[in-house]
Amino acid sequence: MAVFAIVGAGLAGMTLAREFIDAGHHCQVFEKSRGIGGRLATRRCDGWQVDHGAQYFTVRNPHFQQIVDTWCQQGWVAPWPLEPWILDRDGLRPSPDERKRYVGTPSMNAMIKGFGQGIEVYTQTRVDRLERVGDQWRLWDDAGEQYGQFDAVFLTAPLAQSLALLPSGSRAEVPLRNASMKPTWALAMAFDQPTGVEPDALFVREGVVDWAARDSAKPGRDGELEVWLMHFASQWSANHLDAADNLLQQQGLTLLRTLLRNIATSDLPTPKQVFTHRWLYARSGPVEMPVPQWDGRLKLGLAGDWTLGDRLEDAWLSAKALVADVRTANF
Ligand SMILES: Cc1cc2nc3c(=O)[nH]c(=O)nc-3n(C[C@H](O)[C@H](O)[C@H](O)COP(=O)(O)OP(=O)(O)OC[C@H]3O[C@@H](n4cnc5c(N)ncnc54)[C@H](O)[C@@H]3O)c2cc1C
Repeated sequence: MAVFAIVGAGLAGMTLAREFIDAGHHCQVFEKSRGIGGRLATRRCDGWQVDHGAQYFTVRNPHFQQIVDTWCQQGWVAPWPLEPWILDRDGLRPSPDERKRYVGTPSMNAMIKGFGQGIEVYTQTRVDRLERVGDQWRLWDDAGEQYGQFDAVFLTAPLAQSLALLPSGSRAEVPLRNASMKPTWALAMAFDQPTGVEPDALFVREGVVDWAARDSAKPGRDGELEVWLMHFASQWSANHLDAADNLLQQQGLTLLRTLLRNIATSDLPTPKQVFTHRWLYARSGPVEMPVPQWDGRLKLGLAGDWTLGDRLEDAWLSAKALVADVRTANF
């Protein structure tokens, strides 16, 4: 049995932990936030909730489809039948597609909470430094506490945060230095009267906001308020990293008024509550990862969506690939 440290309790980190524990190893997961799930995030407010990170996920890989089917059977995930609309230079119109979309139920991280039961997670523990001690690892947090020792360390934080922890001499250091992640502002507005907006979800091309959805229309959401969630385009978010809540709200209400089209715009109710969140590391640009993501010399592994792409499915696939690499290394 080996003793492993995993940095990050998002889908990648918790999938690693589940697989390693089931294979007989001991794992400790370190997470800087108060809860688990990472960018699979749902904020609970006063009588309402909203998914302010990933909105939904899709499936391309047959192995991922199998696991998603089991998550559906467990009630942790459900399909979100949706006819998206589009807003572009040609105007506003339905834009149906064949894509099957899934959401966590009742919150985006429900599957992680489900399969993650029993996993030892140190929350509110930001790993600040890795120290090599002989052929093992010791971890230090930002309060000066030390943890370990561990036979191997697995970094699953977003690219920039993993890069900050990467020891010099690691094979991944050079390619990662050239990569970047893009920010996204999220705005949530809760209304206690119906807005009258027809589409449940909208892709916006070339706008300030690039995605808007009636979050309260997702399956398994039972709040009484009508909740709208908007994501601001990454370029706009990057140019307005310190945007005030008022500016975000004005932009969001302008979009909803556009969606109301024929209805008198004065009919749009005032939001009862508003919530904003800035994702500094929302999605990654292309990264040329060394393969495998397991560095057998340093006993250090990398996983996370950014190692393969920028979607939830990539996070899961990267964890599965890393587990296979480590197994081959005979741990
Ligand atoms: C705004 C937004 C919209 C998105 N929309 C979609 C979508 O529509 N479809 C889709 O498939 N995907 C979407 N995604 C991407 C999806 O959320 C991610 O692909 C997936 O959640 C990544 O999982 P992960 O485990 O790789 O990383 P994360 O979920 O980011 O988990 C990493 C964890 O590491 C923790 N951490 C970081 N640094 C440290 C440290 N030093 N010490 C301890 N812990 C640390 C973080 O707090 C985090 O919990 C979206 C993401 C965002 C932000």
